[in-house]
Amino acid sequence: MKKSLAVVALAGTFGLGSLTGVGVTKADLEKSSQEQTVMATNWFQTSAENKALQIQTYNQAAEELQEMAMQDYKVKNGQIQLKKNQIRPAVVLDIDETVLDNSPHTAWAIKNNAAYPAGWSEWIHMAKAELIPGSKDFLLAADKLGVEIFYVSNRTVSEKEDTMKNLNLHGLPNVDDKHVLLKTTTSQKGIRQDEISKTNKIVMLIGDNANDLSDAFYKADLKTRFANVDQIADELGSKYIQLPNPMYGDWEGAIYNYDFSKTDDQKAADRYNALKPMK
Ligand SMILES: [Mg+2]
Repeated sequence: MKKSLAVVALAGTFGLGSLTGVGVTKADLEKSSQEQTVMATNWFQTSAENKALQIQTYNQAAEELQEMAMQDYKVKNGQIQLKKNQIRPAVVLDIDETVLDNSPHTAWAIKNNAAYPAGWSEWIHMAKAELIPGSKDFLLAADKLGVEIFYVSNRTVSEKEDTMKNLNLHGLPNVDDKHVLLKTTTSQKGIRQDEISKTNKIVMLIGDNANDLSDAFYKADLKTRFANVDQIADELGSKYIQLPNPMYGDWEGAIYNYDFSKTDDQKAADRYNALKPMK
């Protein structure tokens, strides 16, 4: 139903003849069950606003890290010097849509009427994702400062080789077995964060999904997700760094009560019902 509504709306605005004129046919639009993701992907891939927001977020993170180092550690020649009782500080960050930009996979899925996970492993295998703007400068600065970097991602361990290949392609620091922690049994990241906490002090968590920041968001309903943000509000922008991702994420899963077995029409109805109208 949503698909025909979208086509009717577009047809009403431009007339179907002009759609053909710009290289998009009615059939093109109708065939994609992913049509609802077009605007989000447009925003992610083409908006200066997204690029600015990503760089702004990483600039802020770098400043905060520097400030934390000056406050909690001895810093000599721009490098943290650990005292006897101190363990090395660490930044824990997600990979997808946090360090690597996978929007070309989403764009492909839209144009080929394919829903995740179709094409995903092929995309990872290609190992050619570009960087999220701002991420490399931040990671190099953190490394230079003497902060250890851990990449905690829900890519699976079988995808580790190509994931590391992609990260190495961009010359990122700490890309090795110790620091790239992929999913073995659970998408919940707290267990891997606890492991890191045995050897390092986690001073910052960065991700595009709230679940990257705290397990409190894991499978949480919409109301709880909002309440959780209030819980960490004082540390947002310092310990917790949130990046934007309008294409997918637990924010969407929460709208479906995490039931991804729902049909496209059921999901469309859930999305429609989640809207908060003016009256
Ligand atoms: Mg991510």
